[in-house]
Amino acid sequence: MAATPPLLICEHCDTVYRRRELCCGEVARCLRCDAVLERYHRLSASGMLALVLTALVVFVQANIWPIVTLGFNGTLISTTLWGAIVMMWREHSQVVSLLAAGTLFFFPLCKMLLLGWVLLYARRGQRAPGFRLAMVALYRVGPWTMSEVFVLGAMVAIVKAHVYFDVILNPGIFAYAALTLLITIFAGIDIRRLWDMTSERAS
Ligand SMILES: [Zn+2]
Repeated sequence: MAATPPLLICEHCDTVYRRRELCCGEVARCLRCDAVLERYHRLSASGMLALVLTALVVFVQANIWPIVTLGFNGTLISTTLWGAIVMMWREHSQVVSLLAAGTLFFFPLCKMLLLGWVLLYARRGQRAPGFRLAMVALYRVGPWTMSEVFVLGAMVAIVKAHVYFDVILNPGIFAYAALTLLITIFAGIDIRRLWDMTSERAS
């Protein structure tokens, strides 16, 4: 395992601090701009990998299972996320369907696979092949995963649709809600730590 580097740089104002090990619940903040420098985490690389695998399983379920069933005059129509995306494409809302496919499917999938790949090696204190590229890609993809926005939007749409249709919630929406929880837990973890937890050369 690589030794923890003794210095810590605030990414907002570039102030340099001497690093010390944090205790449970402690958060290191910048004295100049109050930005969070580092948080204490109990999760090891194996713990994070377990979290990513759980998210991946829930993600598959969220995409396979129908999200909602609408009933109107005795006719029931249920749709999955992909059903809705294809429908939007056909109804000439190509831009919206591309955005939905990217932020709800491709970017989150990309993020989970990259994290899984990096963590698989980080468990042994090693850097995975392509570690640098993967970490840069993870940083860039981060803001483009919007499952939590989708769940909120879906909730609002479901409440509104209730006025006109019989709305039956399907397991897909619950899987998305669970995925949002997992993403929120993961958002609190600073994956930059992986730079310190791993070393370049396989030991
Ligand atoms: Zn600062």
